[in-house]
Amino acid sequence: MLTVENIEVTYHHTVQALRGLSLEVPEGRIVTLLGTNGAGKTTTLKAASNLLGLENGEVGAGRILFRGSEIRRVPPDRLVQMGLFHVREGRRVFGEMTVEDNLVAASYALDGRGETADFDKVYAFFPRLRERRRQIAGYLSGGEQQMLAFGRAMIARPRLILMDEPSLGLAPQVVDEIFATIRRLNAEDGTSILLVEQNAGYAFGVADYGYIMESGQIVMEGEAARLRDDPDVRSFYLGLADGAEGARQSFRDIKHYKRRKRWLS
Ligand code: ATP
Repeated sequence: MLTVENIEVTYHHTVQALRGLSLEVPEGRIVTLLGTNGAGKTTTLKAASNLLGLENGEVGAGRILFRGSEIRRVPPDRLVQMGLFHVREGRRVFGEMTVEDNLVAASYALDGRGETADFDKVYAFFPRLRERRRQIAGYLSGGEQQMLAFGRAMIARPRLILMDEPSLGLAPQVVDEIFATIRRLNAEDGTSILLVEQNAGYAFGVADYGYIMESGQIVMEGEAARLRDDPDVRSFYLGLADGAEGARQSFRDIKHYKRRKRWLS
């Protein structure tokens, strides 16, 4: 579905954010990308959805294939029409439009595809959005805005969703609802998902496979169940100590210790 091969990304021609990064999201699978702050997770997603140009970033080497086609030069709006939808960090919705108009705006992705927008499906997944459909999106709670951001993706009927930190700043019940929806969409529609998530516990709860990255590179990968049981992953990313093994504070370097807090929240 998505193949990222050995990409290098630089911002402003100076800051190298990714160094030969490769990963694969197979059809119908949920793959998670984990790592500390600044590791390059968001950059990886933006490279795939071709949003780096907005921040003076560029992919300098490597290939990115979506359903077999090289997409490095494909504009972001075209990628949405091709079935690749990036739900960006920070619940980016149109704050001055109603909930329903936000969903209508996402339906441009269906232009020329002979498909119609399925608003009822979004409302069935997120009944709260139905209740609030005439309200201005900017006044929704953070959780409702995340649901709306997800709902906008659903309207576009993507084959692959790139999802950036859906749990950030949300109450546990809302996060449970969002993750249940990720699982359901994947199970019912076969939508593939590349999930960037700070909370490794949530990520491993839904993912089939995982990659762990640091400093712009993948440092570990494997089936999610295997990663979850790995002693290093358990001690650092899940905050679970297994005796002496668990005393190790970092994957690579103890300086990351303070960042554990976010993983534990
Ligand atoms: P976080 O969990 O904090 O979102 P991340 O793993 O998603 O972190 P990125 O945001 O991809 O990491 O950042 C990777 C590296 O690229 C960092 O060193 C960051 O400072 C740098 N970077 C990201 N965006 C820009 C930008 N617009 N301009 C310059 N450097 C950037």
